[in-house]
Amino acid sequence: MELPVIAAALPAFGWALHGSLLTRRLSTARRDPLTGLHTRAGWTARAERIATRSPRALALLVDLDDFKAINDTHGHPAGDAVITATAARLTAWTSGHGIAARLGGDEFAAIVTDPANTLGTTALHEALHRPVTYRGQLIPVAASVGLCPLADLPVRTLTDALTAADAAMYAVKGRGRRNNTPRP
Ligand code: GH3
Ligand code: MG
Repeated sequence: MELPVIAAALPAFGWALHGSLLTRRLSTARRDPLTGLHTRAGWTARAERIATRSPRALALLVDLDDFKAINDTHGHPAGDAVITATAARLTAWTSGHGIAARLGGDEFAAIVTDPANTLGTTALHEALHRPVTYRGQLIPVAASVGLCPLADLPVRTLTDALTAADAAMYAVKGRGRRNNTPRP
């Protein structure tokens, strides 16, 4: 190629490279770097499609119980391992029929097209309560799960499903606290 032709093409190449790096960075922000799950931003549009198209869709929220104590007792990297394991368990449970997200900290969301396509919510509960092995240590894990079948809603929107799942999750957490940690 002639030198002037190469020189003329360079700015266009530069912009193409810049554009592709920018696109990559944006798509990275839609993924949580620790778990590889979608962030809320990356999850919402996909989850809304499932909510709209699947009459038997089930939305759920998960929050680990006493997660701070895991960090405090076993260290932050052990906490990271618990978060990563929870993400993997949630993803495995959706079995390719839904999508999971890490909303932040120790909080996760998922939506599946139909719970009948999964191993069921009891299996999810069991999976999320399996201890995590980190550097030879068994770390006990507990989680509160709030469920909302979208068919139960007067208006089937993802926002309303998450609001209902959130209320259900905190009800479970409250019960768990009362059952597990007797307080005066
Ligand atoms: P609760 O049972 O009421 O849900 O309390 P909790 O201790 O699970 O939750 P809390 O919201 O009090 O604390 C969550 C902690 O999670 C606080 C923060 O330091 C920690 N955390 C947030 N992101 C990460 C992370 O990426 N890795 C680790 N190891 N810890 C994190
Ligand atoms: Mg928590």
